[in-house]
Amino acid sequence: MTTKTEKKGKAYLIGAGPGDPGLITVRGQEILKKAEVIIYDYLAGKKLLDYVPKDAEFIYAGKKGGVKHTHTQEEINQMLVDRVRSGKFVVRLKGGDPFIFGRGGEELEELVKAGLDFEAVPGVTSASAAATFAGVPITHRNYTSSVAFITGHEDPNRTESRIAWDKISTGVGTLVFYMGIKNLPSITANLIKHGRDPQTPVAIVRWASMPYQQSVVGTLENIAEIVKEQGIKPPALTIVGDVVRYRDSLNWYEARPLFGKRIVVTRTREQASELVSLLEENGASCLEHATISIEPPDSWQEADAAIDRLGDFDWVIFTSINAIHSFFQRLLDKGFDSRKMHGCRIAAVGTVTADCLLGYGLKADLLPEKFTGEGLVEALVATDVSAKKVLIPRALEARKVLEEGLARAGAQVTITPVYQNVPPVAEGVKLRKEIAGGEVDMLTFASSSTVHNFVAMLACQDNRELAELLDGVLIAAIGPITGKTVSEYGLRVDIQPETYTIAAMVEAIVAQATTPA
Ligand code: SAH
Repeated sequence: MTTKTEKKGKAYLIGAGPGDPGLITVRGQEILKKAEVIIYDYLAGKKLLDYVPKDAEFIYAGKKGGVKHTHTQEEINQMLVDRVRSGKFVVRLKGGDPFIFGRGGEELEELVKAGLDFEAVPGVTSASAAATFAGVPITHRNYTSSVAFITGHEDPNRTESRIAWDKISTGVGTLVFYMGIKNLPSITANLIKHGRDPQTPVAIVRWASMPYQQSVVGTLENIAEIVKEQGIKPPALTIVGDVVRYRDSLNWYEARPLFGKRIVVTRTREQASELVSLLEENGASCLEHATISIEPPDSWQEADAAIDRLGDFDWVIFTSINAIHSFFQRLLDKGFDSRKMHGCRIAAVGTVTADCLLGYGLKADLLPEKFTGEGLVEALVATDVSAKKVLIPRALEARKVLEEGLARAGAQVTITPVYQNVPPVAEGVKLRKEIAGGEVDMLTFASSSTVHNFVAMLACQDNRELAELLDGVLIAAIGPITGKTVSEYGLRVDIQPETYTIAAMVEAIVAQATTPA
């Protein structure tokens, strides 16, 4: 006799780090990949959520300083306990380190009270990240051998302050205040009042480790005024101490050539973003936009008819992975599976499509030497296609090379649309807003088709409106063909590399940014 043991739940409290998704620990990342429930905070980098399985339960716990809380701390504790109790693998993801002003301790106490299992994983706290990314060594043998992390959230005027202002003002070398922007005037006044030199340098770092990091430097005496003037808002850290002076020579992050530049990267969904990572390495903040959206065809009638008589076809040809996924999804939706392809020979345009077919348990019978439509025609014609019935499931609009080439060789070609490329309307509206709001410095295009799709997505009435919208935005094109397409829309190409590679395009962008105007 077997007894079914109930799966035991467990909570994992993980530090997400300061925001840059690369700064989570390896252990933390491993755990995210196994989550069944994830409860995350405002400050936990959103990109980390991509590691979490899609079918997990995502709970946003909110908590943005000064803004209405999405859930109270009690509700969060309760959700955590309930989910673990029901046997779930629950991840509690918190910004920075959960034990540093993160209430991590309080949440774990609730689990202990409920007799539940947990594990905790530390994270890079924002103080450490802010110091590193602002070029401030938080301790330094020449200046300080002690550092304190202090909450700036407490009202320093309250009589029963738990911060020993008299001791920390002069007794600790470097002081880092979390959540201290609102109280900055009283924090600095308190430190001066208790004996810290008013000329002590202070750095404020907002959104540390993010491409849009912002920082300002002043002294205890004037920093509150500077922050007010520049309108610096949370989340930001305040670093007080002589170590701030090192910033003049160590400010590597903000000194990168594209730091602060907001660059739109247009791409198709499948493209791995080499461009994004190269631009980010140089300090840019990338706004990634898919310029097309893959949608079902307006009608499935033709595809369904072809699927119903699939066995009649001698060849089925796949020229893109979108076609493969859409075709097999339809096959499954109609209650069939890959066995329906029994008897058909299968051709793939290249290794990517052939690998994709393998995922459906099918091995391509034919793969051309040259991975193009022309290459495919040549390879198929060599097998003698005359009077052969050929099915090509593909996009609604596509090049005609394949069907024409095969028809010329005597094949009976059936084309069925299994998907269509449409401009993503909502993304287009969002992008227009960003451009009109002056939030975009540059557009990059790595192919002519992305130029066309991008323009379609913006949905301007004419080229004049397009040019007005893009006035002041630089345009980079990978090569002359893409550049020509840009010009055809009446736009100016500002950057075009001599060799047509992504790496060369980024080099040209960097050169442009570092050349004095
Ligand atoms: N547990 C977190 C701190 C949470 S308290 C940690 O270890 O970092 C929230 C405060 O942290 C914010 O008000 C801000 O002062 C600071 N903070 C968090 N992330 C930050 C970031 N990327 N840049 C600057 N400050 C940050």
